[in-house]
Amino acid sequence: MPDLSGQVAIVTGAGSGIGRACAIALADAGARVHATDIDGPAVEETARMVDQAHDGQVTFAVQDVTDEALWSDIFSEAESVHGPVSILVNNAGIGDGGPIVEYDLERWRRLMAINLDSVFIGTREAMRRMKDTGGGSIINISSVAGLRGAPGASAYCASKGGVRLFTKAAALECASMGYGIRVNSVHPGIIDTPIWTKSIVDMAQATQDSEEAQALFSQTGANAMDPELIAQNVTPMGRPGRAGEVADLVTFLASDDASYISGQEHVIDGAMTAR
Ligand code: NAD
Repeated sequence: MPDLSGQVAIVTGAGSGIGRACAIALADAGARVHATDIDGPAVEETARMVDQAHDGQVTFAVQDVTDEALWSDIFSEAESVHGPVSILVNNAGIGDGGPIVEYDLERWRRLMAINLDSVFIGTREAMRRMKDTGGGSIINISSVAGLRGAPGASAYCASKGGVRLFTKAAALECASMGYGIRVNSVHPGIIDTPIWTKSIVDMAQATQDSEEAQALFSQTGANAMDPELIAQNVTPMGRPGRAGEVADLVTFLASDDASYISGQEHVIDGAMTAR
């Protein structure tokens, strides 16, 4: 396991799924963690889970990642309790979709604000601070949807594609400025987390011409999709990934074991994009 003792991490969207798993994995590797989420009770529960195994190693805060002014406070809180922040995991995100001809600008802008604007604001705050405190590692959670298109997911694909190239630009800037900060993106495939049950991802509407796509996006509830069923259809490994598997990759990228890795896209998708 990578050694993150002495490191301080902020994880956004840490109240659920991949973010919660990252908070746990980073703490397991020895980091002190400031876990944030817009959902207060959920992130408090994450902190309780981490605290059980690592007493005093975790703090939490309610944060809407689209609130620009709050980012500075979040870093200051983490610093005052734990010391200079050296790891940022920009994980908070939502899924939303539908046919482009029916999609409205308000939904587009909301998704961009949460999935993409927040990555810019968070990375900027991290760079401003880390460049003066010994550097660090920024990990931005994108998606396989940031690598290739999907019908019915235009806004989501655009936001995650934006995360991918923003990450590369930030990595190059950090390297050329000698900031000592590595920036990478992580591209999960189908991961079994609550995002599938709460997203309004009505992609089936936009894929009427494809039987495979219909099976793929066949809905299990009004606004819910089943990651198990989807993964069986589209993932060569035949199963969805686990949040902890993504968290292990994030923990590696956060650590000095990844000291020569920056500006890269790290796909974790059960071979989904290999064909
Ligand atoms: P999740 O829904 O389980 O968790 C997302 C968390 O983000 C929730 O706790 C939610 O409250 C929080 N959040 C939402 N809006 C927020 C805001 N404005 N400010 C702060 N927090 C906010 O989802 P997940 O599957 O764990 O997704 C985590 C990340 O991984 C997302 O960026 C998602 O797009 C990405 N991703 C997920 C999958 C997958 O299959 N699960 C695949 C590819 C990429």
